[in-house]
Amino acid sequence: MALTKMGYSVCLIENDQHPRFAIGESSTPIADMILRDLADDYDLSFLKKLSRYGEWQRNHPEVVCGLKRGFSYYHHKKGQSFSSDKNHNSELLVAASENDQNSDTNWLRSDVDHFLVNKAVETGVCFFDQTNIQKLSRDPKKERWSIFLETSQRIKEVKSNWIIDASGSPQFSSNFLNTQSHSSGFKTHSSAIYTHFEEVAHWLDYLKLKGLKTSDYPYNPDFSALHHLIEEGWIWMLRFNNNRLSAGMLLDESAQKKYSDNIPEESWKSIIQQYPSLQDLFIDAEIAKSPNQFIKTGRLQRKLNRVYGNGWVVLPHTAGFVDPLHSTGIAYTLSGVEVLLKLFHPSVNKKERKELLKSYEDKIYSELSVIDLLVSMCYKTRGLFDLFSACTMIYFIASIRYEQKRLAGETPDTFLCAGHPEIRKIIEDSFAQIQNLNLDKLSESQINQEIKKFRKRIEPFNTVGLMNPELNNMYQHTAVEL
Ligand SMILES: Cc1cc2nc3c(=O)[nH]c(=O)nc-3n(C[C@H](O)[C@H](O)[C@H](O)COP(=O)(O)OP(=O)(O)OC[C@H]3O[C@@H](n4cnc5c(N)ncnc54)[C@H](O)[C@@H]3O)c2cc1C
Repeated sequence: MALTKMGYSVCLIENDQHPRFAIGESSTPIADMILRDLADDYDLSFLKKLSRYGEWQRNHPEVVCGLKRGFSYYHHKKGQSFSSDKNHNSELLVAASENDQNSDTNWLRSDVDHFLVNKAVETGVCFFDQTNIQKLSRDPKKERWSIFLETSQRIKEVKSNWIIDASGSPQFSSNFLNTQSHSSGFKTHSSAIYTHFEEVAHWLDYLKLKGLKTSDYPYNPDFSALHHLIEEGWIWMLRFNNNRLSAGMLLDESAQKKYSDNIPEESWKSIIQQYPSLQDLFIDAEIAKSPNQFIKTGRLQRKLNRVYGNGWVVLPHTAGFVDPLHSTGIAYTLSGVEVLLKLFHPSVNKKERKELLKSYEDKIYSELSVIDLLVSMCYKTRGLFDLFSACTMIYFIASIRYEQKRLAGETPDTFLCAGHPEIRKIIEDSFAQIQNLNLDKLSESQINQEIKKFRKRIEPFNTVGLMNPELNNMYQHTAVEL
């Protein structure tokens, strides 16, 4: 849509048909900020209305989303019901907005993507669905692609100077653009099993029923990105306004091996059964009509060896992926969209564009490596909740720094300030600290010593009081003023 507004003639090719199921549903303050800026910069005012829960409900209640007040984490022990103390020693709640009106959202992607595609058509984008790209060829003299599209009725040829691969997978570019995707170098090793459910009980009701203290919660955790840490990995729960729940289980390398022969539903059930509180929560759960099945992935971590070439470039989710922990996906994609739009501005000449593409590639690799370190240290420490919470704070430091820069009117060069030397050093040093620990043998006092080092490290950027022991893991006010 933004390219159309800039004067380009744009053709959008989708091999599926909207509305269709898609994963990647939890937005963040960064995603919302970028949406607002795209709305202003490219005269796409409706995007602004999707950037805050209140405005979304006032303007587009028909497009289903859910309220996402923050990030909530609960530590479960195998074979035991969830327990915590009055200081919330197994819970961490971090508010990302101060109220429901300004809150982030969980996107029911089938609805949101359908809405966006309709808007694209209204804006003048030429849209083909249920269409496969059958063949590509490029005339180097004219610098033009011939793209052969196969629909159910016919084969059609489209000519274009540029291809933007927004397919969210390495498949297309490896088939047609001679790229390779690999997992080497990633510290994180995870795979996922996920689906949508109906009739899943509310976690807050469960906690209250069990007499756990919730009176000082900054928000209702059912309306947040709800994470349950388990031995095998972690589970996400994202609730939508139609009471559907997106839930997925991330398995670390050893759990993935252990359950590799099982069908996804069996793995899901057998793991949930080992955590009594989660079992209680899912007791009446039914799989939703869409997608009507459990979906199982292989290892999620992947990276393309090139992200651009002559007349083509890929979006971040095509370039690579780490893991859903910290909900980086939508924001990361939007940050890539923002950069590519600048690069395609008609005032940018060929030579400048080439340089910008190179820096886009460097940026993508630097960002993927930072996301990997942030996620990996959390996986490593998830059995030691205090240390896990400290690692999570490193993500919040990077993301708050990024938000503050945007609010000051700057657009940081890299997502999560991955290229900011001091922020990067904080992330690298924290990861190295965790990697050098023998996590199975740490005493409580050693853990406290390690946490002190984290607290000291983030001090120069800690403007919102993260890691303040007096807050008992309940953060009411980390959100930057919107
Ligand atoms: C298990 C999991 C959980 C996630 N959870 C989160 C989360 O909570 N929050 C978050 O922000 N992100 C999350 N993500 C990441 C998120 O899914 C992506 O960042 C986001 O979907 C990227 O959007 P996209 O439009 O680039 O790609 P996609 O959403 O993948 O869309 C690509 C589109 O291209 C179409 N397509 C594919 N191949 C072709 C082809 N050859 N020809 C034509 N069309 C094609 C597809 O049908 C699809 O419509 C998660 C990812 C995974 C794997």
